[in-house]
Amino acid sequence: MTMTNTAGKIYTGGCLCGRIRYTATGPTDGFPHLCSCEHCKKRSGATAMAWAGFLLINFAWDGPGGEPTWYETYPGKTKRGFCPVCGSQIAGIDIDQPVTEKTIMGILIPSLDEPEQPEFVPIHQGSAARAFSWMPPIPSQLDEPAPAEQPSTV
Ligand SMILES: [Zn+2]
Ligand SMILES: [Zn+2]
Repeated sequence: MTMTNTAGKIYTGGCLCGRIRYTATGPTDGFPHLCSCEHCKKRSGATAMAWAGFLLINFAWDGPGGEPTWYETYPGKTKRGFCPVCGSQIAGIDIDQPVTEKTIMGILIPSLDEPEQPEFVPIHQGSAARAFSWMPPIPSQLDEPAPAEQPSTV
């Protein structure tokens, strides 16, 4: 796959009503992907969610509402963040590992202020077998099984 050099690049995003805002500094995690798992479909009310990620150490919640409201989709393993006022889905993070400099904060690509960028074009579709049958899958550009196929990963 072609990697876009996003180191040092500034990204902003947030929810529909503006209470929950974030700023992240690149690099991105290099794994923009759709996910059609049951949790992504149910939580979004959509056919899939589009995920990207940043290093947690390069990520900050900086809107008037602070952090989103968190819901543990896999209790003790994964939590997902949404705005308690407008309901926008914004983020997800694994919580079953100690936080390190490699910990990734997953964000939903549509929450970005400028989502139409090369580094956010999906390269894989997680849980493609569980996608709606009428939804064409994203061709995977990965050489190895994706981490998104693991149940604890958003
Ligand atoms: Zn909101
Ligand atoms: Zn999912």
